[in-house]
Amino acid sequence: MSAAANTAPETILRATSLLADLTGSAPEGIWSAPGRVNLIGEHTDYNDGFVLPFAIPHRTAAAVARRDDDRIRVASTFADEPVEVALDELGTLFPTPTGSSPRVPEWAAYPLGVAWALREAGADGFGVDIALASDVPVGAGLSSSAAIEGATASALNELWDAGLDRTALARIGRRAENEAVGAPTGIMDQMASMLGEPDAAIFLDCRSLDAVPVPVGVVDAGLAILVIDTRVSHSHATGGYRERRASCERGAELMGVPSLRDVSVDDLPRAAEIMDDVTFRRVRHIVTENQRVLDTVRTLRERGARAIGDLLVASHASMRDDFEISVPELDTAVESALAAGAIGARMTGGGFGGAAIALIEADAEARVSDAVRAAFAASGFAEPTVFTVVPSAGAGRDA
Ligand code: ADP
Ligand code: MG
Repeated sequence: MSAAANTAPETILRATSLLADLTGSAPEGIWSAPGRVNLIGEHTDYNDGFVLPFAIPHRTAAAVARRDDDRIRVASTFADEPVEVALDELGTLFPTPTGSSPRVPEWAAYPLGVAWALREAGADGFGVDIALASDVPVGAGLSSSAAIEGATASALNELWDAGLDRTALARIGRRAENEAVGAPTGIMDQMASMLGEPDAAIFLDCRSLDAVPVPVGVVDAGLAILVIDTRVSHSHATGGYRERRASCERGAELMGVPSLRDVSVDDLPRAAEIMDDVTFRRVRHIVTENQRVLDTVRTLRERGARAIGDLLVASHASMRDDFEISVPELDTAVESALAAGAIGARMTGGGFGGAAIALIEADAEARVSDAVRAAFAASGFAEPTVFTVVPSAGAGRDA
């Protein structure tokens, strides 16, 4: 793991104090992992396609101490009570049966699920106390879930001497989220959180898991990326997300391919003929979104960040009209940012709430933020949280 992970000192302090409250002692180490913003490529991950996320400065820190028994205890500033189980019990708790809730409080299924998945992968650990604190907004589509998984996985991988690389740890996080929490997410969030690099987005092929950093260069270009957290809470584990996944699987089956990754823009006329309108529009979103990711990577390399605005806007329209995962708050965020001069804007994350991003001139931050807040007020929406992010480092050890 890289050294200096640059977690906010206040977040480290909160994790350390929580551990001290729990154990009366100092941590053996502190590890952290960031949330992420997806620049473009939405719902393409579970279709074996392309995504282009970047890690954000907001991170979750895990302060960890060794115990002298074979139990694991997790605590979070986010939860009232710590949760403690014997390491050998993990295999009886997980996997969580499909369709039911985890046998531990849901938040604890993320870190305990990581411990379980590491043991499943052969790690033979000792007892630990893990105290978690985070400055990643929870449930805002910025992947606080990958951050908690990445921080826990990085800590236990090192302490338990499991020797897994970053991609393997991303898989551990995904397994925890899928099988312990029961949320059917793809691998994008965990890969972005594990592999993020300063000033770069991670161009990820979700089939091969090849990951290539692509410089975004927003700061050098005098640009900024605004995050507009609508504070409409999304939930991956329910309804819409599962339904979209099922539509994609149906679409691939009708096209006679393993996944929608294997359908190209040229195949769309045939798709339109053989499937119902709703399934076709779901397919069209995935197929065109994959192409937009490839186009964005090429444009960033050839012409720089200022040239990707139209691709972001087209991505939002496709999610709103074809995939139907936007909500009025997200549309308002995008429209008002564009009207105030943003170069491009789109909802980001799984949809049904969460956040939008806008690519703006750095000196336009106040103007665009004010315009977005005014548009929310005029529509009677709750006030959004608006802040800027820069592509940042992935998981690492802080102390
Ligand atoms: P997102 O990843 O977009 O923030 P998710 O629904 O995928 O939203 O994950 C949010 C959930 O992850 C929370 O409801 C909680 O259960 C868990 N979680 C995230 N961060 C923490 C934390 N610091 N402490 C405890 N649980 C957390
Ligand atoms: Mg999540």
